[in-house]
Amino acid sequence: MASASQTDLERRKQISVRNIATVGNVNDIKQSFNRHLHYTVVKDRNVSTSRDFYLALAHSVRDHLTSRWIRTQQNYYEKDPKRVYYLSLEYYMGRTLTNTMINIGIQSACDEALYQMGLDIEELEEIEEDAGLGNGGLGRLAACFLDSMATLGMAGYGYGLRYEYGIFTQKIIDEEQIEEPDDWLRFGNPWEKARPEYLIPIHFYGRVLHDETGAHWIDTQTVQAMPYDSPIPGYQNNYVNTMRLWCAKSPHNFNLKFFNNGDYIQAVLDRNFAENITRVLYPNDNVFEGRELRLKQEYFLCAATLQDIIRRYRNAKFGEQTVDRNSFDEFPEKVAIQLNDTHPSLAIPELMRIFIDLEKMSWEKAWNICTKVFAYTNHTVLPEALERWSCGLLAHVLPRHLEIIYEINARHLQRVSELYPNNLDKLRSLSLIEEGDDKKVNMANLAVVGSHKVNGVAAIHSEIIKKTVFKDFYEMTPEKFTNKTNGITPRRWLLLCNPGLSDLISDKIGEEWIIHLEQLQQLKQFINDANFIRDIQRVKQENKMRLAEILKKEMNIEINPASLFDIQVKRIHEYKRQLLNCLHIITLYNRIKCNPNLSIVPRTIMIGGKAAPGYHMAKQIIRLINKVAKVVNNDPVVGNKLKVVFLENYRVSFAEKIIPAADLSEQISTAGTEASGTGNMKFMLNGALTIGTLDGANVEMMEEMGKENIFIFGMNEQEVEQLKQTGYNAWNYYNTNVELKMAIDQINNGFFSPKNPDMFKDVVNVLLNHDRFFVFADYQSYLDCQEKVSDLYKNPIEWTRKTILNIASSGKFSSDRTIAEYGREIWNVEPSFDKLPEPHQTPISKTNNTTVTNNTNNATITNNAKPMKNGLKNE
Ligand SMILES: *Cc1c(COP(=O)(O)O)cnc(C)c1O
Repeated sequence: MASASQTDLERRKQISVRNIATVGNVNDIKQSFNRHLHYTVVKDRNVSTSRDFYLALAHSVRDHLTSRWIRTQQNYYEKDPKRVYYLSLEYYMGRTLTNTMINIGIQSACDEALYQMGLDIEELEEIEEDAGLGNGGLGRLAACFLDSMATLGMAGYGYGLRYEYGIFTQKIIDEEQIEEPDDWLRFGNPWEKARPEYLIPIHFYGRVLHDETGAHWIDTQTVQAMPYDSPIPGYQNNYVNTMRLWCAKSPHNFNLKFFNNGDYIQAVLDRNFAENITRVLYPNDNVFEGRELRLKQEYFLCAATLQDIIRRYRNAKFGEQTVDRNSFDEFPEKVAIQLNDTHPSLAIPELMRIFIDLEKMSWEKAWNICTKVFAYTNHTVLPEALERWSCGLLAHVLPRHLEIIYEINARHLQRVSELYPNNLDKLRSLSLIEEGDDKKVNMANLAVVGSHKVNGVAAIHSEIIKKTVFKDFYEMTPEKFTNKTNGITPRRWLLLCNPGLSDLISDKIGEEWIIHLEQLQQLKQFINDANFIRDIQRVKQENKMRLAEILKKEMNIEINPASLFDIQVKRIHEYKRQLLNCLHIITLYNRIKCNPNLSIVPRTIMIGGKAAPGYHMAKQIIRLINKVAKVVNNDPVVGNKLKVVFLENYRVSFAEKIIPAADLSEQISTAGTEASGTGNMKFMLNGALTIGTLDGANVEMMEEMGKENIFIFGMNEQEVEQLKQTGYNAWNYYNTNVELKMAIDQINNGFFSPKNPDMFKDVVNVLLNHDRFFVFADYQSYLDCQEKVSDLYKNPIEWTRKTILNIASSGKFSSDRTIAEYGREIWNVEPSFDKLPEPHQTPISKTNNTTVTNNTNNATITNNAKPMKNGLKNE
């Protein structure tokens, strides 16, 4: 382990010319580290724990952000660019320390400083808790987007909720998933800055009174929203943007009534109820759960954020003066709001309420502004994921918003009936309200009507939404619909997680790829370079050995680093078809048992991911995988030919270790169900080959790399549609495929659960009688394709060539490209690679912001920044 970290350290040292450890900056870091250990952590070295050292390092690194952060916000205030507000109920950030060191350009200096102090920086990095404020792809996308907005110099803000408990910790006990609360703030969070002075009141419940002066939402209960800010540094450009997360706080006068009745104790205890709003992240991925608390979370985010946006808009700089902008005419030129799925779509009626009830604007004018400001990203077509809030619940919690939604709908349906006279079908399908016993608001329809742009997240998905969920909306307003294929940040998903590969790439083509990922194309010229091929193989082997060491150390699992690492990590969901993977495992096992002398390519098949706690079938899938693993791994006949590992508690920091070690990436969803996927992109960028269906971004990955460099199998989207039309009968496949029948019978008869033979009856029942995702239909094609994978793996040179072509073709999947497209085609904001001046350089001011000194000699420059005339009006 020591020698492995040593080579990593060596690599990290040379990673960037703008990231050199000099005697000066190493000494600075050592000094500030010791200062923070003493004054911030309040420890001396003799009694310090690893966590104390981590905190001292985190605070030292944070110090490097502070001036850049303040100055970036000053710069926005001075220049007043259009602000981009990303609204998301989830931000799956993972760890912050290493990413910050990299983006600020001090990683090498920190490595060296800690080394000189006799501390193991990698051990300290492991202390940091993941910020797991997300479920999966949607939350991680928000995190990648924040990184890219800062890197592209956009005035971007991430607005979300500061959940006290993030996504649960998954334990596997007796082959089953057990959820433990994720108490991630237990030891404090050095990356956030509470702003208790900027509380914002949020109202719930109450009733609406109408009089000649308009509507009045009265008798409400109030909860305060307290902002917590975290810095989002761009990649070595001195921009630091803000992620602002709201935390629910009881108002001072909470339950004053009881207070006056003398029940003081009860009044204090009741304060907790209000604060439950931001207590915990709902652990559902792609599933809607219509709970009151979740509705309150969604509204809490929207209401607090809009008040903040409007305050910032009003408080603009006009020449020398700060003036209160009292007209909203410029609002669409200064504000863009992106809705990450429908979760924050109550922002639409909330902005209407502010404009109409509080600002006394006309409906027409308010609506005109709203629709220019909002844009909506759709993330799924699965019906169980689409938000449909009960009107009864809305009437109770947000009575005025329900009225506004009805009014939006009435005017919208008026337009519909003008376009399509006497057409009840159109009225029904385009309505925001779904009639029935329990009337519901279709939030996706609300988001489409209230936005000027609606986007899908991969080309195929953006086409599908135009043909299905939004068919009639597309016919009515085709100009709204657009595609923005997802991406991932190459900083975290290559530079940070795979220093070996990053270094190798930079040796060959320089470092531009870090912010211009298309440049990876240049690697194609080395496709026949034997040394390069060997180096790529060496790096992959090192990454595999590192993962093997981690699994041995953390979970006491032994795997063979010479075997093919076949990996499927993502949330457990029927549509992602972990069961198909499982059937492949069982089939391989049966083949080995039938013929113990069978010569096969040894595989380690790893599956990881969390199941939503209330999703029975997903939890059964985890159980089945673990039961199958137990049988396979303990069968002496199998030997080292096949090993099955369930990767416990898959999360961002674990993904960073798993993905660089993968040979084969499993992306096997039923065609038409995975909107994009981003895990697929991470694997491709890290030199794994993909076995997958023509679904989500896999389609575009194939276009980029060529179909000979990816293993595509199974039905395409049209074939799936056809099968739905003609009728899918799983029994036909079961009855005609002996290997499939054998695997299913084993699951059904308790072969993997001898103590409880009925354990998986429900799984088999679904597969045979109610399978919405057609697992059996793709089974044979999948098996055949896996044989091709094994065949290619026997030829390491050819395998590695395809690996190189994968890496070289992955440039399109940078979230920088995605964000540049959002900027140009939705937000009307131009990306830029300009840098802000370093903190010690001439400060940003009106008089000399065009002449930036490039002197980097710390000692000779005095920081002559003066406080601005008007102060920094709570930017
Ligand atoms: C990228 C990522 C995901 C999304 O993976 P998909 O395969 O696209 O579903 C989920 N969880 C974590 C921790 C990730 O890093």
